[in-house]
Amino acid sequence: MNQRKHNTPLVEMANSPPKRKRQPQGENRITAPCPYFKRCGGCQLQDRSYQDTLLYKDRLINRLLCAFGTAKPIIGMKNPWSYRNKSHSAFVHDKRLGIQNGLYEEYSHKLVPIDRCLIQDERADQIVATIKSMMKSFKMTAYNERTGQGFLRHVLIKVGFKNHEIMVVLVVTSPMFRGKKNFVKALLNKHPEISTIIQNINDKDTTMVLGQREIVLYGKGYIQDSLLGMTFQISAKSFYQINPAQTEVLYETAMNMAGLSGTEVVLDAYAGIGTIGLIASRDAKKVIGIELNGDAVKDARKNAARNKVTNASFHNGDAGEVMVAMANQGTKLDVVFMDPPRSGSTKAFIQAIGKARPKKVVYISCGPDTLARDLGWLKEEGYTVKEIQPVDMFPWTEHVECCVSLEK
Ligand code: SAH
Repeated sequence: MNQRKHNTPLVEMANSPPKRKRQPQGENRITAPCPYFKRCGGCQLQDRSYQDTLLYKDRLINRLLCAFGTAKPIIGMKNPWSYRNKSHSAFVHDKRLGIQNGLYEEYSHKLVPIDRCLIQDERADQIVATIKSMMKSFKMTAYNERTGQGFLRHVLIKVGFKNHEIMVVLVVTSPMFRGKKNFVKALLNKHPEISTIIQNINDKDTTMVLGQREIVLYGKGYIQDSLLGMTFQISAKSFYQINPAQTEVLYETAMNMAGLSGTEVVLDAYAGIGTIGLIASRDAKKVIGIELNGDAVKDARKNAARNKVTNASFHNGDAGEVMVAMANQGTKLDVVFMDPPRSGSTKAFIQAIGKARPKKVVYISCGPDTLARDLGWLKEEGYTVKEIQPVDMFPWTEHVECCVSLEK
């Protein structure tokens, strides 16, 4: 296994000085409720009131998108805590401190030991604490980044908020898991609420959490959750929105913008497990989904069947390439939903939209900078922005989700 070359300490001591690299400007500072606020860096805005964080996001969006119109006020949460359905805890072996778990400090590779994250589901923190407490008696070692030795690297937990199903993914360095039956039994004994346990093997010297190979140790190997009356299967590697309460708000906003009447051919680009396309399928003639991640496409197809949707199909491929091919073949599209990752879409995809000439484009973005760039390209293709609606999907963080409708 590869050895790491750096010699920096891997675990941040509790009394280390604050290491925040960026401090958003603003007036009314408060004491952040989270004791790890300064070192973790996950929630950049926890030192102000929730209302102030929303104003900060409104200003940011309006500054970046001023060339395209004025955004409506961001839709916030009534209770902006414990909203994350996905949690991730890194495990490392530290020479001085032994097994440590927590999150990596922003912009560095130092682990900040964290027991409770206020924006995550509490059940996830409890399961992680149990796993840590079981490691000694099961002689389970934690990963040592310097030597590449050790077994447990990460614990990833996904919780279906509506269906109360819980997935535990043990990311380990080897397929050989000594005493796995007893480990699983003991974990389930303490947490009968767990629906499935997966062993994921990641033996690479990488910052990626998940490896390719999975072994299902208990349950179905996926969980289910419901959004807007539909049930979705979520596997370990597929993308699923991390704030389910606000996802319903976001998707309703997107559906209202699309204004489907039952006759439209709809494209769901960057479809993930098919949530947007399947919800749209109820009011469309036909839905075509495109997604790069093969596991997510499998989930999307199963989700169509699970919800008895017969007018949606999902294609595995690069959104740009598939869109160009569809435009060249003259595929008729009426409405395009596009929900790319933070890096945004591509010029090839947007030029292909220009060629396919759908009447409406609904752009769902989690990266305002790339959104501004892509709206510029859509403008070049003759599209005008009609509405900009930010939704607070990531309270206390500086991330802003935004739904934009455009028309030809
Ligand atoms: N619409 C989904 C997923 C949005 S996240 C939802 O609301 O849950 C963005 C998705 O784009 C991820 O599933 C990612 O795998 C996918 N993706 C990233 N690059 C892509 C590309 N070039 N072509 C198609 N899909 C891509």
